[in-house]
Amino acid sequence: MLVLIPLPRTTGGKDEVRSIEPLLIFEKRFFFAEAMSSRLTNDQIERYSRQIMVPDLGGKAQIRLRHSHVLVIGAGGLGCPAALYLAAAGIGTLGIVDPDKVELSNLQRQILHATEDIGRQKAASAQAKLNRLNPDVEVKIHSTRFDDANAVELATGYDFIVDGSDNFDTKFLVNDVAIRLGIAFSHAGIVRLQGQTMTVIPGKSACYRCLFQAPPPPEEILNCQQSGILGAVAGTLGTIQATEAIKYLAGFEEGLITDRLLVYDAKVMKFHSMEVKKDPKCAACGAAKQNKVTSSTSA
Ligand SMILES: [Zn+2]
Repeated sequence: MLVLIPLPRTTGGKDEVRSIEPLLIFEKRFFFAEAMSSRLTNDQIERYSRQIMVPDLGGKAQIRLRHSHVLVIGAGGLGCPAALYLAAAGIGTLGIVDPDKVELSNLQRQILHATEDIGRQKAASAQAKLNRLNPDVEVKIHSTRFDDANAVELATGYDFIVDGSDNFDTKFLVNDVAIRLGIAFSHAGIVRLQGQTMTVIPGKSACYRCLFQAPPPPEEILNCQQSGILGAVAGTLGTIQATEAIKYLAGFEEGLITDRLLVYDAKVMKFHSMEVKKDPKCAACGAAKQNKVTSSTSA
């Protein structure tokens, strides 16, 4: 916040710095005192200092993140950047679900994996990189498909789900299971130079089925394999998903992408929001709830 204040042009550089220093020191002391009182170690305070300093976060939010559990479905184009930022931010437990092995054609966008990982399980590759980035984070891996047989068991106990899957069946399954278990989640989809994302808080906001009642017919579906994707577009959307998870877990429900779909078009470099209304007849979150289920992979 303070760095956005332009320094006034006066006589010399040193005097200008002195004029804002007391303020900076006051803010740092305030936020670090809060962090210390919340029992973060000195290393943790240093590691997370730049986000603890953000007035909307602070030490208490850092402690909440430390006790949070986030499930990332798919260690692909969306899940990789999302998991990296979640681990860097100090989420206590990260679950990674992905049944696939790393392929050469994944590396252009799936930034947790490197050339030497080709042939390795994506979940194990992701775990190694995330542990290297932040050993504070417990990374649980599931080298399996998120499907109707295991979805409830895999998702139970998590506080937030990042859906980084690349197919509609999994996206609807994540929605239905999250609504059933009362777990907030971030949906995202990417194709070519475009992406879309929305956050769902069960019992409060519109869900993915309120927007799209059912998966489109197979002939209408474009996926990364068939239509291509710019890696940086996946990175932008995955990063937004991580931001939503962190905001939700830190207690910012008002500023989330709820009851709207955020659409990103990198071709013209524009974002816009479409309103999404809660559908009282929604099969997942409406009065007559029913849960449909099916299968997965990463984008
Ligand atoms: Zn709904």
